[in-house]
Formats: sequence, structure tokens, C-alpha cells
Amino acid sequence: MKRVAVLGGGPAGAFAAAELASAGIRTVVFDEKLAWEKPCGGGLTYKAYHQYPFLIENDTPKKLITESVLAAPRAGEVNLRLREPLLIYSRLDLNRMLLQRAERAGAWIEKARVLEMNRAGSGWKLRTSTGILDADFCVVATGARNPLREVGTQLRPEDTMSALGYYIPGNQERIDIQFLPRLEGYIWVFPRCGHLSIGICGKGEPAGSLRKRLETYMTEKGIAWKGAPFYSHLLPSLEPSGWKCNRVAGDGWLAVGDAAGLVDPITGEGLYYAIRSADLAAKALLSELGCFAEKVQAYRRMLRRDFAVDLEFGSRLAKRVFLGRFLFGTVPARMVQFTRRSPRFCAVMQDLFAGTQPYLGLRRRLMRNLNGSLYEIAMNLGLGRLVPGKVGG
Ligand SMILES: Cc1cc2nc3c(=O)[nH]c(=O)nc-3n(C[C@H](O)[C@H](O)[C@H](O)COP(=O)(O)OP(=O)(O)OC[C@H]3O[C@@H](n4cnc5c(N)ncnc54)[C@H](O)[C@@H]3O)c2cc1C
Repeated sequence: MKRVAVLGGGPAGAFAAAELASAGIRTVVFDEKLAWEKPCGGGLTYKAYHQYPFLIENDTPKKLITESVLAAPRAGEVNLRLREPLLIYSRLDLNRMLLQRAERAGAWIEKARVLEMNRAGSGWKLRTSTGILDADFCVVATGARNPLREVGTQLRPEDTMSALGYYIPGNQERIDIQFLPRLEGYIWVFPRCGHLSIGICGKGEPAGSLRKRLETYMTEKGIAWKGAPFYSHLLPSLEPSGWKCNRVAGDGWLAVGDAAGLVDPITGEGLYYAIRSADLAAKALLSELGCFAEKVQAYRRMLRRDFAVDLEFGSRLAKRVFLGRFLFGTVPARMVQFTRRSPRFCAVMQDLFAGTQPYLGLRRRLMRNLNGSLYEIAMNLGLGRLVPGKVGG
């Protein structure tokens, strides 16, 4: 393999490039903007920086947040201490740090838009805004709005969420998460260095209506949002059927990050999966396997084994988490109430925020703890005398 072209220099592309270049592969990254303030909360979970310590061990400005407030209609709010801090970056800073890392590893970084990719023998001829380049293999990292139609996931409208928000001057030391009536999504307030990223994501609802919900929320909270910079973007949120036919790789290319639809369909976490998929793509390309076709197959298998099966399972839970009902209330309201009343349930929420509780084991853990949680809630409500004895767990 003489040259790999990485199309897109966001977290997925920059990480893949760093891995390939440091293994001695001639790697070129094309990004039309290079480092930029990509619309995002900028939150990185413990799972991400525990696995990739350079994400926390660096001089790039970031916030470490250990307090959160969860709120849902008819349930008020609850403080949730995060056992493991959430790291919050401005995306301009995070992207710049990742691109510099790729450059230090030996990747060639070029500010150019990839306009067209055509098969040329067993390789590619790429037409970019700055010229023509031949490459043996392509890593597709062009994000959720991938303009290269023949490669990467094919997002149907039902496989996406709208996500939009404002950058508001200000400071606070906690994150806020607000669930809303009849919304498969939520509002977040993420403090960054010097400003807040306040946004909303939602599935199946027009962006205009999400924006109204967000502005109403900010007005009610006394947040001065008028005149603040507005952002909006697409967030992959694959339906179960979307996972079944997800196009993550093909002849001569692998897709990583949002371009492969690899985002948590419940939380919208995409940064970890961008970096993790880039890591797996580089491992597949660098493996001893003989031909590209085998490497492509290996990448598909690695993705499924590592996290894609879990995210696919998450996509089957998403509607129930936001729109479902439990014990005569909405699930978000119950989550807030249970977090308030039950230390066991609170621990589950802490692990979900840290990214260390897979969806595949969630149901079993909740069922195992349910009796204990309900007992704790009953005791908390002062109903201890109505409970004949400790109910299991
Ligand atoms: C509003 C919002 C909030 C979010 N908040 C969070 C959060 O708090 N935590 C979290 O983990 N995830 C969050 N996400 C998801 C996260 O932003 C993405 O999952 C992540 O950016 C994916 O990284 P990526 O490298 O795959 O794609 P991107 O970051 O989108 O990078 C793609 C790059 O490709 C370049 N590009 C595209 N087309 C071309 C082309 N033709 N030629 C050259 N370059 C091209 C772009 O310029 C861009 O730099 C959020 C998403 C949204 C929309």
C-alpha cells in the first residue's frame, strides 16, 4: 500500500491519519475547512479518554465537569454527581489538536474539498479543489453530510436527528439535561471554556419546531440567547433497519465516524465512536491480511464486535427511553425520580454518563436492581412501614 487518502479531517479522519502515518504509510488528509467549530456539544465521556488518554493529557483548553442536573416534565430536577468527569472541548480546539497530532505523526494535511472519486485500476483518482491525486485506498471521514454519494452510510431521513443550538457567553460548572414532552431527544447545556453550548436534538420533528422548543426553554431559564451565534447540523441516529444495511465499507474504501453512521442513537455521542472506528479502520488496514477485500471484511467484523451491535441494540431502546411509559409515568420522569430516590439507579445513570454501561447489559442490570431500587424509593418516600421486608436484591 503506497498511499492512503483520508477524506475529511474531523476527529475520525485525523485519528485514522495519525495511526496510519505513524505506521509509516504515506497518508494525505483532505479537509475543506481544516480545524473549525463544527456544530457540537463537544462532550467526551470517560470511556473515550480512558481508552485514549491523550484526549485528557494535553494542554488544549477544556472543561472537566463532575456535576449534572437532569430534569423532566412532571418530575422536577435532580442533581447527579458524575463519578468520572465529562470533558468538554470547543470543537475548534479539539479538531486542531487532533490534526496537529496527525501532522506530527507524518500525515500530509491539505486544505481542499474532495469533489469526486473515481476508480482507477485497483486504486483511486481523486479530484479535489486543488488538483488530482492518485491513492491506493480511501478512508471516508466526511461526516454526517457526506457529499460523496457512492461511499459511506446511506442515511435515510428516519436515520437522522436534527441537532441545533447556540453558543452563549457565560460560565457554569455543571451540565444540564432537560427532557421534553413527546420528544425523542433532549436539550443540553454544556459549559466550555468561556461560553456555553446549549442545544437540542430530536428525531422526527422539524428543525424549526426544535428551535422553538429550545428558545422557549432558554427564555424561561433567563438565558440571554438573542444575537448569540446559532448552529445546526445533522446527527446520524440509525433505526434498527438502518443498522442492518449500514454501508461501512466497500471496494477500496472504509468509512469511519459519522460518515459510517456510528453515533449512539440515544445519547448522540459520536466523538468516541469516530475515534474508535478510525482506530479499528487503521488496525484493519495495517493488519497482515493479504488483500484489501480481506481487510474490508475484517473492519466490518471488528466494528460489530467492538460496539456496533451494542449501538444497534440501543436503537431498539431509543423510542422507549424518550417516549415510553413506566409505572403510570413517562420514562424520563421516572428516570429523574428514581435517580433522586435510589442510590442503585443513580449508579446506573452515572455509568451511562461515563459511557461504561453497554445497552446490551442494561436491561439485565435494571431488572436485577429493580426490587432494590423500588425498596430504596419506598424507604425514601417514608413508606418503610408499608414494606414488610427487604424485597430481594
Ligand atoms: C449539535 C451536535 C452536538 C453534538 N454533541 C456531541 C457531544 O457533545 N459529544 C459527542 O461525542 N458527540 C456529539 N455530537 C456528534 C459529533 O459531533 C460527531 O459524531 C463527530 O463530529 C463525528 O466526527 P467525524 O470526524 O466523523 O465527522 P465530522 O466531525 O463531521 O468531520 C467531517 C469533516 O469532513 C470534512 N469534509 C466533509 N466533506 C468534505 C469533502 N468533500 N472534502 C473535504 N472535506 C470534507 C468537514 O469539513 C469536516 O471537518 C454532536 C453532533 C451535533 C450535530
